[in-house]
Amino acid sequence: MIRVRIAPSPTGNLHIGTARTAVFNWLFARHHGGQFILRVEDTDTERSRPEYTQNILDGLNWLGMHWDEGPIFQSDRIDIYKQRVQDLLDKGLAYRCYTTEAELEEMRAAQKARNEAPRYDNRHRNLTSEQEAAFTDEGRRPVIRFKIDDDREIVWHDLVRGEMRWRGSDLGGDMVIARRSEDASIGQPLYNFAVVVDDMDMNITHVIRGEDHIANTAKQILLYEAFGAAIPEFAHTPLILNMTGQKLSKRDGVTSISDFKKMGFVAEAIVNYMTLLGWSPPDSTQEIFTLEEAAKLFSFDRVNKAGAKFDWAKLDWINSQYLHHMPVDKLTDLLIPYWQEAGYEFDPVGDRPWLEKITALVGASLTRLPDAVDMCRLFFVKSVEFSQEATEQLKQAGADAVVQSIVTALDGTTELTAERTQEIVKQVMKEQNVKKGLVMRSLRAALTGDLHGPDLVESWLILHQKELDKKRLQEAIA
Ligand code: GLU
Repeated sequence: MIRVRIAPSPTGNLHIGTARTAVFNWLFARHHGGQFILRVEDTDTERSRPEYTQNILDGLNWLGMHWDEGPIFQSDRIDIYKQRVQDLLDKGLAYRCYTTEAELEEMRAAQKARNEAPRYDNRHRNLTSEQEAAFTDEGRRPVIRFKIDDDREIVWHDLVRGEMRWRGSDLGGDMVIARRSEDASIGQPLYNFAVVVDDMDMNITHVIRGEDHIANTAKQILLYEAFGAAIPEFAHTPLILNMTGQKLSKRDGVTSISDFKKMGFVAEAIVNYMTLLGWSPPDSTQEIFTLEEAAKLFSFDRVNKAGAKFDWAKLDWINSQYLHHMPVDKLTDLLIPYWQEAGYEFDPVGDRPWLEKITALVGASLTRLPDAVDMCRLFFVKSVEFSQEATEQLKQAGADAVVQSIVTALDGTTELTAERTQEIVKQVMKEQNVKKGLVMRSLRAALTGDLHGPDLVESWLILHQKELDKKRLQEAIA
């Protein structure tokens, strides 16, 4: 059974990069009928916050990245990690290192002076128990280091990047797997160690994560070997870049899923877009698909090695496609909060059929949900503001008379329907002896305060339902 996981650290809101990694894991799991597990890596107690955990869980759920197991919290498993550290100590594969921070500094400074990369020189690898006792008596507290031999070769076949080769000497010397403790016990286990213990215990078969973890993978493979455990497959996905080719970061403004949500992107569109960030379907002209469709097609053969550029125009286009094809009731649910936030007054329940008419009218013109605020203002306000163009239109010869005769025609109307609006327009053209264009433009200017906007007849009917049309027309010529 294929088992994958997403392992976010709750040190910030759900990041687009983490979300994209979640999507690839999820697609891979679904493609193979496997399982997708959520693990919260909250061992960094200083930077982890419960509100970030909540944001991450909410974000994954919103995107439809439902997990089959979890969330499992690393903070609940500290004793297990410490026990495994002890196991490696017992096997002689790890040791206590008493080198102080000052000594490490000195070591690095000397390496720098020699133009060497910083590394731990493994100086405490073979301490005698007398030496250890002497350090302890001095009051030194040890970290635990895992032995990494310089001449070790580490090779794996990465599902995205092909054959990967590392040498032990690339990894900076024996690696710290547990922090300094306050007493003689084992201190807080570190990321690279806890991940391996978890992935082993959770029977993870494929580790799919961002390419910034490649060096960690080399270290982690050595830990699997130390435990005599099966080594999972690895897939390192390309980074998400901004349009200038740099890693997408906070400086690019929006990076968290909750921000994208606030900006009025819908979950389906974001997931669809993220799927295309680094992956393409076999028919690369297909750009719109559901998660289920993508899951059927997904494979690592079609994941790029090169970074994926984040393209706002593309995301906007995909979002517009989802909004244009969304059922009216669902889109209305999404628009109501934006209208409410804009201060428009309406009864979300009693006015529902009327609101759905507005949605049906403007839905196909939206790119992001908040576009509906300006676009629909004319239906909610008592009186409209007139644009320059509309004011000029209403000053045209004959415009006043046209608007006046529409008012008169409305007075003689019992029920305003689409057919009746056509009749009125024709009648006014005849009465005033004017062209249709003048009637329509003047009507639009008077009703909406603008010369551009949604379908005029529909808009009129919607306004009429709230008895706003006659008032507007009268105001326009007052
Ligand atoms: N907590 C790590 C991160 O957020 C997870 C890395 C992994 O998937 O192993 O980057």
